[in-house]
Order: sequence, then C-alpha cells, then structure tokens
Amino acid sequence: MYLFSVNLHHKLFQNSASDKMAKIPHILLIYTGGTIGMVKDYKTGALKIFNFDKLLKHIPELNQLNCTIQSISLDEPIDSSNMNPDNWVFIAEIIEKNYEQFDGFVVLHGSDTMSYTASAISFMFENLSKPVIFTGSQLPIGDLRTDAKENLITSIEVAAAQENDQPIISEVCLYFEYKLYRANRTTKINAEHFEAFTSPNYPPLGESGVHLKFHKQLILKPKKAKPFTVRKRLDNNIVILKIFPGITERVVASILGIEGLKGVILETFGSGNAPTEKWFIDLLKETIDKGAHIINVTQCIAGSVIMGQYETSIELKKVGIINGGDITTESALAKLMYLLGENIPKNTFKSIFETQLRGEISEQE
Ligand code: ASP
Repeated sequence: MYLFSVNLHHKLFQNSASDKMAKIPHILLIYTGGTIGMVKDYKTGALKIFNFDKLLKHIPELNQLNCTIQSISLDEPIDSSNMNPDNWVFIAEIIEKNYEQFDGFVVLHGSDTMSYTASAISFMFENLSKPVIFTGSQLPIGDLRTDAKENLITSIEVAAAQENDQPIISEVCLYFEYKLYRANRTTKINAEHFEAFTSPNYPPLGESGVHLKFHKQLILKPKKAKPFTVRKRLDNNIVILKIFPGITERVVASILGIEGLKGVILETFGSGNAPTEKWFIDLLKETIDKGAHIINVTQCIAGSVIMGQYETSIELKKVGIINGGDITTESALAKLMYLLGENIPKNTFKSIFETQLRGEISEQE
C-alpha cells in the first residue's frame, strides 16, 4: 500500500514588493505524481516518476503569474493507479493544514484516477470557500509536445482568479485541455487524446481560449457562514458490479455475498435497466435486507437513470435500490464511501444519497 509523507516545501515564487504581496493570491501547488512529472526509463522504456525540482525547472513561465506559488511534493510521488482512500485523506489534510494561509490550491495528479480522487475530495470538503483545482497531463512536462504546461499554468490562473477580492471558484474542479470542470462530474474518456476528460452531464464551468472565461451561473456559491470541515472517514467496503448480458447467478451471488459488504454500485443498462429474472431481483433484495445499499448508475457515458421508465427497472425500484440519477460511477463510488463513513442511518441513507451534496447529481423530481 502506498502511504504518502510530505517531502519538502519548495521555494516561493514571488515577483513583487511585499506591500503588494498581501493582495496577490497565494497558491499552494501539491505534487502527487502522474505523467506530468515522469521521464522515460532508458532501460525499460517505461515512464517513471522523477524529481519535482526538475519539473519546476521546465516551467520558468510560472514566475510571470500574478500570484505567489509555494509547492509541496510528496515523498514518493506515485502513478495514480496506486491512489487509495488513505492517500485521498492525506491530500485533504495537506489542504486542511494550509487552508488559512493560501487562497487557492492546485493538485498535480495522474489522470488515470484523477476523477476518483477529486470526487472524493469534493465530498470530504464541507463548506469549501476556496478553489481546489486538479490537473495533470497526457505527456510528461519535458516532452516537446507536452500538454502539461498549459494545464498547469491555466490551473494556477484559475486558482488565483478573483473578483472583488473573492475567489471566482470555490469548489473542487478538474482542469484539462482548455476546459474547467466540476471535478465530481468528470470521467476519463481517452488515453490518447489531450482531451482526456469529459463532464457528460454538466457543462464546463470555464474555458480557456484567448481569454479565460468563467460561466458564473454554473459555479457553486461558497458557504462562508459555515466553517470549513474535512470529513475523513471513508468506508471502502463496497464494490462496483457492472452487469452484462449473460451474467450468471453464481457471479452475482458471489459478489453480493462478500463478507462485510456495505455498498454496491450497480452499473446498469441505459436509463437504469437490468434483467428481470427472479434470481437476480431476489439476490438484490437479500443484499438490501442484510443492510447494504445498492446504487443504480448507468453504464452509458451520458444521461440519467430513470427508475420505472421501463419495466426492466420497476423491480429495482420496488426492492429499494437507490437512484443514482446522472451521477458518474467515480462520483457515486466516492459519495458511497463518504456517506458510509459518516454512518448515516439506514432509513435516511437513500434520500441523502439521492440529494445533491456538492453539485454531483442533478436534482430529481
Ligand atoms: N498512469 C498515469 C497516472 O495516472 C497517467 C497520467 O498521469 O496521465 O498516474
């Protein structure tokens, strides 16, 4: 298991006199790993992590931004395939410890599981009133055709963007290839194109072209009156069950029979449809009766679960399956771990899951 420790505090980039400094935004850059900071191993040809010092040398342009940037690198930066809930808590704690000293946060993270981490952090942060921007890249920073520079520079600009001395963004976002998304609405869709992410059910919060534009009506308002709280208990006794034509009773029974299982993300067809065979519905019912929660999430990239639209989802509704609406699988997984960690009583769990907590799900009628 990979557990982080923070390595060092890098130098502060600052470019103006100290009286002006009080006004300009202070940004904390947190480096966790990913392609952005990788180099090719000459022997194996595989990409591996390299030192963060070298990464900063590749972007002298950072000195020109109208903000100060302080950075933290994790002791052992990792490929994001090795991320886990303990690491998410660690990242959240770095931000928590530095919350008052900084105006915005940029997290450099591998793109493979970025949507999972950023979704989880969005649920862990209650009453966030500052920007937390996740970014990474498809090509390493040293590569001639890299997308890393634009992603990093614009992410810092977004984190530093203010209006009337207030941050424009006060939620967890993911910036990639000219688009700023609400993080818990994103999913990685491409391992080749620079446009690696999409937000299928919610429009981008901003776009970077000749100008950096924000769509303010889409951005969550900060809840400044309430204290910023970090929820750190995540329960990962859950499973994602993706159904497919031909799935057998033996497979479903063994997955749902996992000891200590508390939650299931059921990835269904289309608008939330599943086989109507008795053994299937009975197994779901037994699982719910035992106290586990089952969330209906569509396998489709876009659109929403509408339970009861087809006969093939009526039974799911009847046995008490939770309607995941238009939530992404990544966000559903993070929300499930978060709500299980909060020990929400069984009788309110369904309605709380179906409620929008951090803008992750469209309100259902
Ligand atoms: N495998 C890398 C990671 O997720 C890919 C990337 O950074 O884009 O850490």
